[in-house]
Amino acid sequence: MRTLFLSLSFMFLAASCVGQETSTKENPEMKAKVQKTDAEWKAKLSPEEYYVLREAGTERPFTGKYNLHFEEGDYRCAACDAVLFASDSKFESHCGWPSFDNVAENDAIIEREDRSFGMVRTEVVCANCGGHLGHLFDDGPTESGMRYCINSVAIDFQSKKEEEKTDKQEEPK
Ligand SMILES: [Zn+2]
Repeated sequence: MRTLFLSLSFMFLAASCVGQETSTKENPEMKAKVQKTDAEWKAKLSPEEYYVLREAGTERPFTGKYNLHFEEGDYRCAACDAVLFASDSKFESHCGWPSFDNVAENDAIIEREDRSFGMVRTEVVCANCGGHLGHLFDDGPTESGMRYCINSVAIDFQSKKEEEKTDKQEEPK
């Protein structure tokens, strides 16, 4: 029985993202760099953002502002501004939510098992603040095979041009 349990554990580890600690996955809030109380998040976020990011809600499909948005730039966490996805990983998935086939940086996102609504899914949360972003599926059409299905409400887009402008302003003359 113990051997079976161990092999199942290894299968689970092998199937999930390699290189991350299981403890991080189970308790992303414990590791999140940005820590705020519910009241602080409520004050900072809009009601829609709070519902998705802090209460793991889902926006209605085909309603999000980034569902059919294909400009060049970065998608940042709407709660803490961490860069999560780059535009070159975004693809049209026809599922009604912005979809990406990879993350901007390996440690930008934490995955954890979500057994809500009688399904077993992989929830993805922002590694920096623990905010709920969406779910990860392995049915992606691109080479990575991954489909990060993300709520538009949970992310903010910054175009490449805007980023260059910001960089220039920050450089001392
Ligand atoms: Zn965040």
